[in-house]
Amino acid sequence: MSPSYTIETSHLRKEYSRKVAVADLDLQVGQGEVFGFLGPNGAGKTTSIKMLLGLAKPTSGEARLLGQPIGDPQSRSRVGFLPEHFRFHDWLNGAEFLNLHARLYGLAESARQQRVPALLKRVGLEEHANKKLRGYSKGMLQRIGLAQALLNRPAVVFLDEPTSGLDPIGRILVRDVIRELRAEGTTVFLNSHLLSEVEITCDRVVFIKQGAVIKTITLKEIEQGATPVQIRIGAAKIDRATLALGLGQFGTEARVDSDCIHLTVADQQKLPDLVRWLIGQGLDLYELKPQRVSLEEMFLQIVGMDGGL
Ligand code: ATP
Repeated sequence: MSPSYTIETSHLRKEYSRKVAVADLDLQVGQGEVFGFLGPNGAGKTTSIKMLLGLAKPTSGEARLLGQPIGDPQSRSRVGFLPEHFRFHDWLNGAEFLNLHARLYGLAESARQQRVPALLKRVGLEEHANKKLRGYSKGMLQRIGLAQALLNRPAVVFLDEPTSGLDPIGRILVRDVIRELRAEGTTVFLNSHLLSEVEITCDRVVFIKQGAVIKTITLKEIEQGATPVQIRIGAAKIDRATLALGLGQFGTEARVDSDCIHLTVADQQKLPDLVRWLIGQGLDLYELKPQRVSLEEMFLQIVGMDGGL
């Protein structure tokens, strides 16, 4: 195993008395990577996170977090975690709750005085700082949970379904926080079933099924693959056959209808040149829609409709 990875596992396995929750997990996550951990219900995602955090003991295999064997107190102090099913201290108010966790992380009072209000503001709960958590909605609890996960300026953050209770504004907040974390060089380990979110936030995803990795994809690969494109054009007097011939330099399967061009480009990098060329042909462009395969479609292709349960 290499100490240069933020997270690394080798043949990691967890068996409960009658159930193999994680069969054979091999992962490598680099520093500053936003890493999506995807798989159907029961695939072993939460169990894997629990093992990485030292909350569940592996049956066999190895894992390292921040260069240390899992469970090491030094590396655990540099980790942030937003669990999927959280039970917070609902008799505390938002500020008290964050202060308590900041003390548990060992933050000095001066640091707490600066960090707690800043995080309350960052997650949009500034005005609810003095409200007891028992009066918070599910989304508000998820927001305070996110703030709690960031208190110690972690080197790696585990977010287990961070947007499940959030409204669209909350989801944008989580997306922005993840982008900020990436810019600061923080590693983000994201487990989410909201694949449209994953698609726009993650650098790389793995698909797991029955506790083993079945496929790894870099999100750039999705953008770089062959992409069917539809271009809506004005009803200009054009020679469709000549136009289709000219389109051949940008891709294949060119077809021109009365107000629409259909073309498959080998690479989306070609799109700006294609647009310039079409305008040069005297066409008016109203819309250009790349129809790339979504992560959701990939999930179904890779994992299968049965999900493996
Ligand atoms: P989901 O997407 O539904 O949250 P998951 O991928 O996080 O699922 P896990 O919660 O890790 O899946 O569960 C993996 C398997 O291990 C499931 O079949 C689950 O029933 C089983 N399992 C998890 N925890 C335990 C436990 N404490 N005792 C027995 N079996 C367990």
